[in-house]
Amino acid sequence: MENCIFCKIANKELPSSILYEDEDVIAFLDIKPVNEGHTLVIPKKHFVTLDDCDEEVAKHLIVVLKRLNISVCKAVNCEGIFNAVMNGESAGQEVFHLHFHIIPRFKDDGFGFRFPKSYEIKRERKMLDEIAARIRKEI
Ligand code: 5GP
Ligand code: ZN
Repeated sequence: MENCIFCKIANKELPSSILYEDEDVIAFLDIKPVNEGHTLVIPKKHFVTLDDCDEEVAKHLIVVLKRLNISVCKAVNCEGIFNAVMNGESAGQEVFHLHFHIIPRFKDDGFGFRFPKSYEIKRERKMLDEIAARIRKEI
């Protein structure tokens, strides 16, 4: 996709610090790491979100992600790994080429979620069951 920075990185038209590459997937260091070793794993083919992504590519991405979690953690000696994928602008996506984050975590590293007030309320089973039923209809 023209003007997509991650397509350009995948095609080696822009520099990046690559740590893994195969036919369909490439992984490189995030230019603004939360912590040392912060990695992005992307399909070489341009998909905007996981919804758009070919299922075979998605499966392979998860396998690579699982393996790289272990390698990154060993390399930077972290205490845990946070994986994230932002799907859409409202979810915080800034680069519109599908990517999974591998973020090494350390106790008290200052990274975290900001939860809304609604998060503090445990919902009634009836309400949760209604929402689950609504979602099941869409599967
Ligand atoms: P998201 O879309 O998941 O919110 O975040 C995009 C991520 O891509 C950010 O963590 C940002 O630092 C990273 N990023 C943006 N531009 C570049 C770039 O040109 N090179 C690299 N390596 N990472 C980038
Ligand atoms: Zn792209």
